[in-house]
Amino acid sequence: MKIKPLVVDIKRNALDDGPGIRTLIFFKGCPLSCAWCQNPEAKSPTKELYFDRDKCIECEMCLTRCEQNAIDFEYEYRIHRNLCNLCGACINICPNDALKFVGKEYSIDELVKIILKDKVFFDNSNGGVTLSGGEPLYHIDYVHDLLIKLKKNKIHTCIETCGLYNQSEFNELILPYIDLIYFDLKIFNPELHAQYCQVSNQKILENFEDLIKKHKELLPRIPLIPNITDTPQNLTDLAKYLKSLNIKTIGLLPYNPLWISKSEKIGIRPMYNYSRWLNKDEKEKIKLIFSEFEFKDF
Ligand code: SF4
Ligand code: SF4
Repeated sequence: MKIKPLVVDIKRNALDDGPGIRTLIFFKGCPLSCAWCQNPEAKSPTKELYFDRDKCIECEMCLTRCEQNAIDFEYEYRIHRNLCNLCGACINICPNDALKFVGKEYSIDELVKIILKDKVFFDNSNGGVTLSGGEPLYHIDYVHDLLIKLKKNKIHTCIETCGLYNQSEFNELILPYIDLIYFDLKIFNPELHAQYCQVSNQKILENFEDLIKKHKELLPRIPLIPNITDTPQNLTDLAKYLKSLNIKTIGLLPYNPLWISKSEKIGIRPMYNYSRWLNKDEKEKIKLIFSEFEFKDF
């Protein structure tokens, strides 16, 4: 049975993730499981309960409403997810919005209606829509239908992908309707990729190399994850690989440690812990590696 696509968030008036003013749509579900996932609430394709301890005033109202005994004030993550049936009773009673669901279903028409509210801003700024996640291609048929409607409305389309998708489906259903592709490359060594992302990078690299032949606007991006992707060995390997493919421009994605608290809010213990931002010196060292290979725009 196909999983219904859920949306984690819709961000309007965004100035990152593509040219101009954009609407970003974050889909839920991803075929990778990276140890440092910056959007952990978008990893699982199914709806989840999100608990924000900072908003909780410890009134215990939720406790009185939960018929599954899933709420436990002694438990570090508050909710025993294996007992919770997502009934929503605790959300409805919480006086301070400390609980909410992550993952909402939208029909294509509902999404397009929201997107079209900003059409005038897209047109005046050369902006458009960016599909992100999670992995938007996890829901390839839905994304295909959405893209067709966006192109009918003459909207610029961008996709952010982890690169793990069925190549022939992508080329038929997605490629004709996409103007710009942000393609994440994380770890060059296949064994390390499998260790940290739970899948080999072989198909990802095959898809990337196929895309280059399609002459679409394509930007490879490397997330800078301390001690995992940002090692001199990995960055040099990636730089050499991209150079060999005649790539001239890359994007470097800064590390954001806030993912750790987001993981805890959906009851997941982080598999990796690095709780600070990269400092200026560290960023400069990284940039130097790519400057030596004469890349632009990172
Ligand atoms: S969603 Fe329902 S089952 Fe889950 S914790 Fe809340 S009240 Fe309990
Ligand atoms: S109802 Fe909301 S504010 Fe009250 S204890 Fe539960 S989560 Fe905290």
